[in-house]
This record gives sequence, structure tokens and C-alpha cells, in this order.
Amino acid sequence: MSFWGALFASPGLQNSDRERPATLSSSKRGLQAVNRISATGIPYRIERVRRKSIGLIITAEGLVIRAPSWTPIYEIEAAIAERKTWIANATERQRSRLAQLAELRHGGHILFRGNKLKIEARAGLFESIDLTEHQCVVTSVTGEIATDRLDLEIKRLAKIELPTLARDMARAAGLPLQEVRLSSAKTLWGSCTVDGNVRLNFRLVQLPPPLMRHVVAHELAHLVEFNHSARFWAIVAALDPQWKAHRRAVKNYGVLLEL
Ligand SMILES: [Zn+2]
Repeated sequence: MSFWGALFASPGLQNSDRERPATLSSSKRGLQAVNRISATGIPYRIERVRRKSIGLIITAEGLVIRAPSWTPIYEIEAAIAERKTWIANATERQRSRLAQLAELRHGGHILFRGNKLKIEARAGLFESIDLTEHQCVVTSVTGEIATDRLDLEIKRLAKIELPTLARDMARAAGLPLQEVRLSSAKTLWGSCTVDGNVRLNFRLVQLPPPLMRHVVAHELAHLVEFNHSARFWAIVAALDPQWKAHRRAVKNYGVLLEL
């Protein structure tokens, strides 16, 4: 059970045909993926996955279609044509969110603990990053910013904070948590396995703390309810009374995962 970050729409189309596209290639993740341009002029990537309907996702790279292996191209094209306005709006929203949430240069900004911080680059003898909820000062010999150093610092802080938070919340609620690991997944805030292991995205520490705790609550609730049933949401609500608002709000930050 996992917590999706990207903008997601599922037109719920049914599949009737077992025709497959001729030009399949394998992507990094072992999925069969293929890049195409729709009849309406929208570039997109198809990922053939195990699901029953066509899913449309807007990522930083553009439109991704997740579809069962047997869904014919004309059905995918029809789904794109049908959702054309949604795709255009979602792409624009994604672009402006990305611009708001991360502009990693001197005078640019970074999101940390829900605060939009101005990035300050300084030249100095020693490399250091001072990232707190109030400031982001990057010192380097050249006075330039290497964005991977910022990510490493966010990961370091996440490693200190997230496992402890998850363990404390699980203990307080009596949930059977085994192991907590950090992830750098590009589309997921968190995931949970049946044997009690929770994975949390290191970028959770960039979110406003109540939203970070909401995602942790969601994954912890899966330790006892491996579904999204009413019983599951009751556990989430016990851990996070404002879960409904938080669940909606987290969606605005999905684009952070794609950095
Ligand atoms: Zn879930």
C-alpha cells in the first residue's frame, strides 16, 4: 500500500482488446515503456503495468499513461482526448508548483519544513550547509551551489528524524512496526509491506510537519489494515485527527518527489 505523490486521474476505461503496440522498450524500472505523441499533439509515455484501467499521471517530465499490457493504443488515445483540458491544466499546475517549491541557486529558494527559504550561497574555506527551518546557507570554496549537496543534507536530517518519529507514533498507538527505511522514490511519499516494514521518502522533512506526520500515520495504519477500508481510515484518524485536510494538502507537494 503506498502513498502517491503525482497528480493522478483515472478515467476508469474498460479494456476490450488484446492488441499490443509494436514499439515496446524497457525502462529503468523494468516496466515496458514507450514514448509517443498523441493525435492531439501531446507527448506521453506509456507504462504497461498490472492494473485494470488506464491511469493518467502528470510528472515533471510530462504525461505518463499507466495501462494494462492489453489496452490498445486507440483506447489510450481516446482517454487522452477525453482528458485534454485536465492534462493541460494539470501540466500547468505542476510547472508552477515546481517553480514555487524549488529554485536551487543563490537567491533562489528551497522548501524545508514547509517554509520557503531563500538560498544563500557563500564562498568560504570549508564546505558546509546550514539548513534549518529558518535558513539555508550553502558555503563552498567556489561560492556555488551543488544541488546534490543540498539533497544529501536533507537526507541526513531525514535519517535523524523520520525513523524516530515513526517508531514513537507506532509505539504510542500500539502498532507492530518492524523496520523503517528511507526511500528516494520519485512518485511515492511512503509505502508499507505486510511484514511490518515502512519506507518513508526523505523529502517528507521538506513538508509542513503536520503533513509529514500525516504520511507517516497513513503508512503506520497499513501495518494492521493492508487496504483503504473504513477501518484503515479510523486508525489514520486516531493518529491524525485532521487527516482529511492533510490528505488533500499533501497532493500539492507531490512535485517535490520528482526533483
Ligand atoms: Zn495507502
